[in-house]
Amino acid sequence: MKDYIKIFEAADAKRAKREKENIIALQKEGLYPKKYSFPTTLQFELTGACNLACKHCYNRSGDDDRIKNTRMTVNEWKRLAGYIVDNGGIFQCIISGGEPLLLGDGLFEIMDILHEDGTSFVVITNGMLLNEINIKKFKRYRYFWFQISIDGSSAELHDSFRGVKGCWEKTVAGAMGVTSSGIPLVVAHTVIPKSLPLLEDMVKLAYSLGAGSIMIGEVLPSGRAIYNKNIILSHEQRNYLYEQINELSIKYAGRIRIERSMNVRSSMARYLSQPNCGGIIRPNGDFRLDCMVPFSIGNVLESSLKDIWDRSGCDAWHNPLVMDFIRSIDEETQQGDILNHVSEDIRI
Ligand code: SF4
Repeated sequence: MKDYIKIFEAADAKRAKREKENIIALQKEGLYPKKYSFPTTLQFELTGACNLACKHCYNRSGDDDRIKNTRMTVNEWKRLAGYIVDNGGIFQCIISGGEPLLLGDGLFEIMDILHEDGTSFVVITNGMLLNEINIKKFKRYRYFWFQISIDGSSAELHDSFRGVKGCWEKTVAGAMGVTSSGIPLVVAHTVIPKSLPLLEDMVKLAYSLGAGSIMIGEVLPSGRAIYNKNIILSHEQRNYLYEQINELSIKYAGRIRIERSMNVRSSMARYLSQPNCGGIIRPNGDFRLDCMVPFSIGNVLESSLKDIWDRSGCDAWHNPLVMDFIRSIDEETQQGDILNHVSEDIRI
């Protein structure tokens, strides 16, 4: 069998190189900033609570310490959204959690503030709490996409991976409601050894739900997955996965886009090659660089976002500790040399 892992990594590296060259060329023409004076894209991790208990959750959402560590209330998020608008606004907001729909109408109050300023959204949800009423509310926003995670073509696979019996049925019904309302759906699918042979069934399910794309990823060794190593693919399984992605992309071209998550090291390398444009605000208020990078640069409950950004945001990826961490990421395991870093972010 061909070495698909190497082929895909080479493609990622080529893409990153091309992007870097394009950015440099645009910067020379004065058409691309060398630094952003304020973030343009932010992820709001609205809560550490979750109604599922997925075996791979990088946040360990729903664990007691994650819930206790949620310091940002709906009012704090609204205050932050208002502050962002007052400082020029952001282009994109990624709404995630935990499970963001647990905020009830508070979620829409937060989104409204940014929406009225022109922000577009990515919403990431497990889909369990979607219903006719909240889907109608979601319809009024602009989206890059609306993402629902489905981890199996059958209830048995999805429910056992996500820890709650009956969740597949609710999630699939929610996804159907989203596409029926004209909201652009992306199905996120995490592959584990047990679901690997059924990848095509999963693509068919996403297509039948009306998704424009299926984003296929593998379990990364972070958060809860550190304690559930049997869900991480072996080298051979990863190679087979990439071969399947390659074949299915050709077979389903024109019907559904089949995308894959970029290798961790390559996506980190991309951050280093362009000016930083944002990060993640966590449920405790910390400003984290990325979900796979255990560094925070401040806390929005302690300092203003602008101060945090001016002090360390623009150049954060070139901090020596961050660069050392990126260099330490193992090609095979995709893990850096700081274990279980989710609850212990390092302040830089
Ligand atoms: S639904 Fe998402 S946030 Fe909740 S436990 Fe699963 S992966 Fe974590």
